[in-house]
Amino acid sequence: MKNALRISMVLIAVLFLFAWGFAPARQGGDTVSPHGAASNGSQRPDAAVPDSTRTLRVLHGGSVEEMPMDEYLLGVLRAEMPASFEPEALKAQAIAARTYTLYKMAQGPIARHPDADACDDITCCKAYETAAEAAVGWGPGARRYEQKLARAVAETDGEVIVYDGTPVLAVFFSSAAGHTQGAGEVWQTDLPYLQSVESPEDDSLVPNYYSVVTFTAQEFRDRFCAVYPAAKLSGDASGFLTDVERNDAGFVSTLRVGGVSVRGNELRTILGLRSPSFTVEADSGSLTFHVTGYGHGVGMSQYGANAMAKEGCSCEEILEHYFTGAQVVQWQG
Ligand SMILES: [Zn+2]
Repeated sequence: MKNALRISMVLIAVLFLFAWGFAPARQGGDTVSPHGAASNGSQRPDAAVPDSTRTLRVLHGGSVEEMPMDEYLLGVLRAEMPASFEPEALKAQAIAARTYTLYKMAQGPIARHPDADACDDITCCKAYETAAEAAVGWGPGARRYEQKLARAVAETDGEVIVYDGTPVLAVFFSSAAGHTQGAGEVWQTDLPYLQSVESPEDDSLVPNYYSVVTFTAQEFRDRFCAVYPAAKLSGDASGFLTDVERNDAGFVSTLRVGGVSVRGNELRTILGLRSPSFTVEADSGSLTFHVTGYGHGVGMSQYGANAMAKEGCSCEEILEHYFTGAQVVQWQG
């Protein structure tokens, strides 16, 4: 009897110490729970709205189909990130795509397709592929890849990146030259969570990291003047580009082309370069662009995310690195 009492007292003491020593550090009843964790021990965890209960209308292959969010996100993952990437990188991509979609839906109807919430055109929304379409490229690995991507969506069900309590503009791109660039350096509006940060990818990790494109003076003139007819592009091509300004991240921020001021990213789009991170060699009859990386360079680098995942980072750590001051939460909005 004495022994039983002693054992009971020891057990009570152990339970008390366990509860005291290992209680979650976070206090209070936040409406969102970072990383899906319970907000505290005495309350039920705040649950996100599951992807299976959110529906959206997707314009794909010329027709609009209504589908649950998880099905749409799986289609985006198939098309937007190599399925061979690390699971945590795929999870980061799933959360970024979910966040981007919710951000856009909150903005109201999209002018190019008011009857659909998203389309499969990468110049408008995000790329999207069905299982059958992706399987053509994947070949014998299709079944395994399909399961791997479905896990990345399911394991991040309802998770969203927020800044100041609302979903962020979760943009992403393929690869950059050591740093991302801030939104204000590429687009009209700067955003506090889209700032320049370090990104670990390099030519050992990224295929086609460096690319070279040459235009004759006439080819360059035709492309640029189709957008800016007022540009004065005659004579020696070595004088076509002037006042080239580069930001700290190595991207061309602004330059003048035949007297017209443009942003580096706009010239990239006009010429079809892979990135606004470029240098130019010009002689009298041609211009040669040496380009590093792929994409606009704002937000999450996909190859950078994969490099971070290989180093052991979680999807939350990856996203909170690329989106300055933002947090991954269970989203109830
Ligand atoms: Zn669209």
